[in-house]
Amino acid sequence: MKTALVCGAGGFIAGHLIERLKNKGYWVRGVDIKAHEYRPTHADEFMLLDLREPDACRQALSLGDGTFDEVYQLAADMGGMGFIHSAECEIMHNSILINVHMTHQAALLGARRYFFSSSVCVYRDMQPGEPEMTEDQAVPANPDNEYGWEKLYSERMAQAYSRRYPMQVRIARFQNCYGPFGTWTGGREKAPAAICRKVAEVEEDGTIPVWGDGTAIRSYTYVDDMVDGIYRLMHSDLQGPANIGNPEYVTVKELVDTVAEISGKRFNIQWVAGPVGVQSRNFNNERIYSTGWRARFPLREGIRRTYPWIAEQVRLARGEG
Ligand code: NAD
Repeated sequence: MKTALVCGAGGFIAGHLIERLKNKGYWVRGVDIKAHEYRPTHADEFMLLDLREPDACRQALSLGDGTFDEVYQLAADMGGMGFIHSAECEIMHNSILINVHMTHQAALLGARRYFFSSSVCVYRDMQPGEPEMTEDQAVPANPDNEYGWEKLYSERMAQAYSRRYPMQVRIARFQNCYGPFGTWTGGREKAPAAICRKVAEVEEDGTIPVWGDGTAIRSYTYVDDMVDGIYRLMHSDLQGPANIGNPEYVTVKELVDTVAEISGKRFNIQWVAGPVGVQSRNFNNERIYSTGWRARFPLREGIRRTYPWIAEQVRLARGEG
């Protein structure tokens, strides 16, 4: 039986990844600084550990006399644009410590394959209509925020260790990911979850505030597609980073319209100043396509699977469950 360590197991994407690995017959250990807020873990074993500490990383990676076949590193001090812009010191301090110690300890303890969850935040801003950007165009680097700089350093560190140690490293640069069982309130939620929550909360013909002017262009990847990409990339021969993202690019206004349609609610939008992030995105997917990966969930279908879960959380939080 293959063994996998999943770091960040109390979080959104890792929670879904563990479910997938269990369905594929793995023995899975999950680690996180907190338990999952929205559902019980599917992992065989769950450890509460602060992965900023080298000893905790060693404990997470230790498996009797053996070593893990696969390590998936998804732990990060993480949130949407509001969080990224207000917590840059926490992001740079906490996430870099996690990655420095996990990469180092995984290599020393002989992990065979190591997956690192990076982000398209490593790229510079783009203008609408620009041609697709490939992975090697992340340098010369000019990320829009410190979260991107932290990811870029951690990518390079993992690659350096793969040159020194017999540890295969796989790196994915995720586009925005959304789906059920993810953060939907509290300040760390990302745009799709925040908009689903605001729409679920608004009275008929009421108004929801949305940051920016609605013209920013994004791609939103449904979590099942993301997990499929992670799994395929981990088992591929692809060295170096690979973008993973839905090729369906939409404006933020189109995202709001999609949520409105799925919810069946009528409301007004008030565009307000806020930390929107970059203006545009357009990334090349050829590397991840070479693994056979394709996005299977258009935005409308992903929101159709996400909105009811968030609307239910809103009802439960209001005591209407
Ligand atoms: P998440 O916040 O739901 O999960 C991250 C988990 O890491 C959390 O459960 C958190 O408690 C845990 N963590 C934080 N500090 C820790 C510590 N010191 N020790 C142990 N665990 C700790 O985020 P997510 O959306 O599931 O993201 C997973 C990974 O994917 C992250 O590396 C993130 O940067 C990356 N990513 C996500 C997106 C997205 O749209 N969700 C986009 C690009 C990249």
